[in-house]
Amino acid sequence: MGRLVMKFGGTSVANIERIQNVARHVKREVDAGHEVAVVVSAMSGKTNELVAWCTEASPLHDAREYDAVVASGEQVTSGLLAIALQSLGIQARSWQGWQIPILTSDAHASARIVGIDGSEIIKRFSERKEVAVIAGFQGIHAETGRITTLGRGGSDTSAVAIAAALKADRCDIYTDVDGVYTTDPRVVPKARRLDKVSFEEMLELASLGAKVLQVRSVELGMVHNMPIFVRSSFDKPEDIDPHGTPPGTLISSEENSMENHVVTGIAFSKDEAQISVRRIEDKPGVAASIFGPLADANINVDMIVQNVSEDGKTTDLTFTVPASDFARAKQTITSAQDKIGYARFDSETDVAKVSVIGSGMRSHAGVAAQAFAALAARNINIRAITTSEIKFSVLIDAAYTELAVRTLHTLYGLDQV
Ligand code: ADP
Ligand code: ASP
Ligand code: MG
Repeated sequence: MGRLVMKFGGTSVANIERIQNVARHVKREVDAGHEVAVVVSAMSGKTNELVAWCTEASPLHDAREYDAVVASGEQVTSGLLAIALQSLGIQARSWQGWQIPILTSDAHASARIVGIDGSEIIKRFSERKEVAVIAGFQGIHAETGRITTLGRGGSDTSAVAIAAALKADRCDIYTDVDGVYTTDPRVVPKARRLDKVSFEEMLELASLGAKVLQVRSVELGMVHNMPIFVRSSFDKPEDIDPHGTPPGTLISSEENSMENHVVTGIAFSKDEAQISVRRIEDKPGVAASIFGPLADANINVDMIVQNVSEDGKTTDLTFTVPASDFARAKQTITSAQDKIGYARFDSETDVAKVSVIGSGMRSHAGVAAQAFAALAARNINIRAITTSEIKFSVLIDAAYTELAVRTLHTLYGLDQV
């Protein structure tokens, strides 16, 4: 007997029929003798609709009320799944974040989990054989008693955090693809499923745009050494061999077994904006005068390129920020123009960041150089580059994203044969 957390994303609970399919997946595990907690997302499209309603009600709305609204999607699916399970003869009840409770910070719309009391759920596993159906994405801030949400894609994080709190053996993430691929399989049909990925590599893939898992869920998996198995909810529950290994990707502390591959995967993100501050004075403190106020405004700066000054007097500074923060970043910098001392503010929002990830890069030289040559051969201009130990990223025009991803996927031998 084991203890499992099963998480189902939006497309997996998109309608009543799919919720009933999910219930049969849960029944399969219960019948196999496992104790099960299920974490559900809102029905697909629901959260987007709720977010849009908040914006329509007022573009600049109270984040605490935004959370009260958007947390409701998961409340619906948790109740519906509990009903579907009960109709299959399984003891089940739904839990909202505040009922468990899942305690979080008060950073509304992007709250962090600070503690989960799993004792009642564990008690019910043994005393009532009851399945816990938990609303993902949401929690409560203890001091104010207000509902919080964990940021988009946050149900993954709920699931891994709950798995850690319940001391589960594994956290299964059921989604609309049957694992983690070398890149988004919807963009590159030749992408290959990876059997195993290390936490470290998955952290890079997720933070650089592979939305199959929310970054923080991978961080938590790493911290608690909780194995995460990504698999498909669309497989028929009846077809799954309870003793076999289903198709999927195991994310764990183990190193990737594909040692002959230097590159594990390619991620991309169109949620970037490029800013260039022209002819700033080339003197100590000028970078701080730009990045200090951005940090104070809670804006994450990603890629940074600064040229060596030609005349020893002025230089240009280029960097990227999340597209959603662009307007605030622009306002922060332009309103401090006199203090910073620069001639011109330029920007480009139609850009994309393409990143190549692989722990093999530690021991292989020239991996990035190959990419630069391959992109040049396709006439794709690189606007900025960043590198770290196990990845590098290039910033390009958004229109070339797919071409660049496919080119690099082939270049590094990732295509399915
Ligand atoms: P859910 O609603 O189940 O949380 P998401 O839409 O958040 O599902 O994540 C699954 C999607 O992630 C897939 O449909 C796929 O298009 C996308 N994706 C991006 N990169 C990858 C990748 N490397 N491997 C698998 N899926 C990926
Ligand atoms: N429903 C939330 C979202 O769409 C959380 C999730 O699905 O993980 O972002
Ligand atoms: Mg998701």
